Amino acid sequence: MHNVVIIGSGPAGLTAAMYAARANLAPLLIEGWQAGGQLTTTTEVENYPGFAKGIMGPELMKEMRFQAERFGTVFKTGDATSVDLRSWPFTVIVDGEESLATKSLIIATGASPMTLGLSNEKRLWGHGVSSCATCDGFFFKGKELVVVGGGDSAMEEATFLTKFATKVSIVHRRDKLRASKIMQDRAMKNEKIAFVWNSIIEDVLGQDVVTGVRIRNVVTGKVWDLPCAGFFLAIGHHPNTALFTGQLGIDGAGYLLTNHGTATNVPGVFAAGDVQDPHYRQAVTAAGTGCMAAIDAERFLEALGA
Ligand code: NAP
Repeated sequence: MHNVVIIGSGPAGLTAAMYAARANLAPLLIEGWQAGGQLTTTTEVENYPGFAKGIMGPELMKEMRFQAERFGTVFKTGDATSVDLRSWPFTVIVDGEESLATKSLIIATGASPMTLGLSNEKRLWGHGVSSCATCDGFFFKGKELVVVGGGDSAMEEATFLTKFATKVSIVHRRDKLRASKIMQDRAMKNEKIAFVWNSIIEDVLGQDVVTGVRIRNVVTGKVWDLPCAGFFLAIGHHPNTALFTGQLGIDGAGYLLTNHGTATNVPGVFAAGDVQDPHYRQAVTAAGTGCMAAIDAERFLEALGA
């Protein structure tokens, strides 16, 4: 019987683990098969407090993991494949096999990249279609690339890709970016980046590998093909809440509903980070809510006399 099981190994899960471990709760953290969350697929993190010169995303996650481990967090590599929150103590099944019983649960399952839902996007995934510039940018030395999206991720991905590509076109469905001013300015000043405004991707072209994208201007209706060797998606993320459907309150966009800090509608189940945050979605806010969730879990256990 565990005091606290944490699902998720991004900043929210690891911060929750560190706090729970320091409260002598001996937390068990299910870290997935691809540990570390979204920051492991990003480059330089410049806005995480305490790193004045910036830090690479994977390095930051490594440090957070060490810190959680140092105080006694036990890590389990594997995916939580089902949960039973209808009876207490709660049950979490890992990889369809191992059953864990826990008095409290912290959900920090984060969010996953969204796709456009085009059949050729799926077919050519890994053959020129990607959602991770840091993972795949290297393969496109001297090539022309397309990034879709108008938020911080699109600016960041495009800027990073200019290290390898000769040209990066950002295709955005409006004529205004959603990205923060500093990220916009950086992309706009970059001579290798071009913007294709008011346009959507209608198709991804290529037989075995990506050779281009078909674009439609939503104002003029003009359709044209833009040749490229790689197509990167940066159109946002959807929260990873499928595991909890029917057991926890979820809003219309799929985020877990929380109130009074990190409490879900089931006493003893708490949610932290991007899985419950449609507004801020920053590494530092995820870490902040991870800390809150651990404190909330500690108080829940204290009230139980557990
Ligand atoms: P986002 O802010 O939600 O932006 C998504 C972008 O994709 C928007 O411009 C949106 O267009 C566009 N889009 C969405 N669905 C689309 C579709 N079906 N077809 C075409 N375009 C579509 O997502 P994000 O850029 O991943 O950022 C998520 C959060 O992480 C934000 O809070 C951001 O600040 C943060 N972040 C921070 C950093 C950093 O500070 N270093 C880096 C990356 C991300 P519209 O604008 O028209 O809606």
